[in-house]
Amino acid sequence: MMYEELQARDVEHIWHPCAQMKDYETFPPIVIERGDGVWLTDKQGNRYLDAVSSWWVNLFGHTNPRISQAIADQAQKLEHVIFANFTHEPAIHVAEKLVELTPQGLEKVFFADNGSAAIEVALKMSFQYRAQTSQPEKKQFLAFSNAYHGETLGALSMGGVGLYNDVYAPLLLNVVHAQGPDCFRCPFGESPETCQAQCIQDTEKQFKKHANTISAAIIEPLIQAAAGMKMYPPIFLEKLRDLCDAYDVHLIADEVAVGFGRTGTLFACEQAQITPDFLCLSKGITGGYLPLSAVLTTEDVYRAFYDDYGTMKAFLHSHSYTGNPLALRAAQEVLAIFEEEQVMETLVPKQQILQELAHAAFEELPYVGEYRQTGFVGAIELVADRKTKEPFPSDERIGYEIYQLALKKGLLIRPLGNIIYFMPPYVISEEEIEWMVNTTKEVMEQFFYERGQLV
Ligand code: PMP
Repeated sequence: MMYEELQARDVEHIWHPCAQMKDYETFPPIVIERGDGVWLTDKQGNRYLDAVSSWWVNLFGHTNPRISQAIADQAQKLEHVIFANFTHEPAIHVAEKLVELTPQGLEKVFFADNGSAAIEVALKMSFQYRAQTSQPEKKQFLAFSNAYHGETLGALSMGGVGLYNDVYAPLLLNVVHAQGPDCFRCPFGESPETCQAQCIQDTEKQFKKHANTISAAIIEPLIQAAAGMKMYPPIFLEKLRDLCDAYDVHLIADEVAVGFGRTGTLFACEQAQITPDFLCLSKGITGGYLPLSAVLTTEDVYRAFYDDYGTMKAFLHSHSYTGNPLALRAAQEVLAIFEEEQVMETLVPKQQILQELAHAAFEELPYVGEYRQTGFVGAIELVADRKTKEPFPSDERIGYEIYQLALKKGLLIRPLGNIIYFMPPYVISEEEIEWMVNTTKEVMEQFFYERGQLV
């Protein structure tokens, strides 16, 4: 079948996510036939380096032989089973391992099937905990500016990115919003090195004002990803944990994007040495193979639900695919790979190479506000004016234009507005890192040259 015909059939019926479908008139979808390591190959034989891990899910490469085999074997044994009253070994194994690997004090694991659902679970658990521990007035949540926690209505309510939220505002929960960390444009004029998280003041102010009504605060530890890979130092999290303790507020750590090694430690919370009351995990948990999420919580929370049936204290949230054996067998293999292949150690030199190459390539360019990196996530913030840090107007769609140029060269970077970022699968080689950085620089130069902006 002709390639163009496939593209036409796609748009005839498929409504793609996160897209203005009219754009597909001039930029039809790329039909991918296979994946191998960091590479995707389309039906015409063009290859693309997947520098964004296919929406941050892939860890160990496309068609990773170990994960593919594990899922194939599992599919021969048990594809799915109702998870109420029934269980299976992959679920038991993954739950044990997650409790072992996550910060101390997280003892119970609730499975759901995507990141947004994990957030809903954490919010509902916190809320119901209050109702069942004689604090029914605590029914609000505190969330941060520039946060992103997913697209379902509860999760969306916790978000602070107008692009996703504004149109739904009348439907969203009444959330207490606090100023999140904004290190690139720090209102206190500090750098991440000198930061003492003065910006937590606003959170404290909100806690004081709403102390009696806030059940939980929710945050993306170390990187506000969807807002443009906004990075901040662990001290903010340390202080937030202290404030939550002081005001009897649960802390929900949304590590859906940053969990499983992205920030240089297996979980971002480790760098602040904190234990949240709820830890939400998804994306990388199956190495990018199947939808799965997990919410870990404490014995204290669990106990507030544990009683005779007639008290009606049970947590009745459920999804049809909760605890899916294929997804959990993939997760089991992912956790085995982390351990047996010393993944976190092998990432250290790769992170350094990315840091060195990207700094050298981007830091001095006239339209780059900064290059920043946490662990194996790197981001280039493009600005109209380096001195004032004035952003490019969003309607110019700079990132989108650069994205299309990069695709022509075989590189899949999908910028977030004016922020181009790298979040590659961990199996990327040093040569591929170099190629990724050089190609990004090349297309940026080409783009700004064509706009007449290259100095
Ligand atoms: N939380 C964070 C921090 C995320 O980055 C995302 C997805 N990008 C979500 C939650 C929602 O996950 P999902 O897309 O699987 O619903």
